[in-house]
Amino acid sequence: MRIERMTVGVFQVNTWLITDESSGLSALVDTGEGEDVRQQLEARSGLNLAHILLTHAHLDHAGALADIQAAFPHATTWLPEDEKPLFDTLPMQGTMFGMPHLNRPCGRIDHWVHGGDTVQMGELTFTFVPTPGHTPGQGCWWVGDDLFVGDTLFAGSIGRTDFPMSNPATAVESLRRLMELPGHLNVHSGHGPSTTLEKELKTNPFLGYLRREKGIEGPKGLTWAPGT
Ligand SMILES: [Zn+2]
Repeated sequence: MRIERMTVGVFQVNTWLITDESSGLSALVDTGEGEDVRQQLEARSGLNLAHILLTHAHLDHAGALADIQAAFPHATTWLPEDEKPLFDTLPMQGTMFGMPHLNRPCGRIDHWVHGGDTVQMGELTFTFVPTPGHTPGQGCWWVGDDLFVGDTLFAGSIGRTDFPMSNPATAVESLRRLMELPGHLNVHSGHGPSTTLEKELKTNPFLGYLRREKGIEGPKGLTWAPGT
């Protein structure tokens, strides 16, 4: 398996190209909102884009879907079904965030995804793990030792829950369930550097409530623990 990151657009969102080397098939996790990812993909010779796996429907993650689908019409697109209300706002999401020039068409969803659903690509199996809160249906794509988490969790932070359709209480529960997965899993976030679940459980300022529940000592001098 080969993982390549493309960080693009005004939000500097991380998109991910995962390639199964046995079959030569690739999957794209999230799209950015501009033309950057499509142009980078078109510049690759021999790319066989089989799937577009969306973590959630914010414009920086799904806004370029229609543009990429026009260039790669055979790729099938997967989005959590609970994201549909947010996905439907893509033509006006730019306006909602004060950037009407970033309004985008919705593109096409081939498969509405639910927890535990899998996507097979050559020797790779992607499993969908729901982690709503930042958005109504956001989730993570888990393959091997790697988790593509969108805006669920960042190195040293968590996804904002003050947006329309966000739910802070749901995010707290989602992070609790996410942290039940094996700690060695690599976390590839929608923004910023990659990390691991174990490192975040031990050090992330926003996960103090989980450390207390699990009896894990946090960083020295860190007394602020939201969610407790
Ligand atoms: Zn987001």
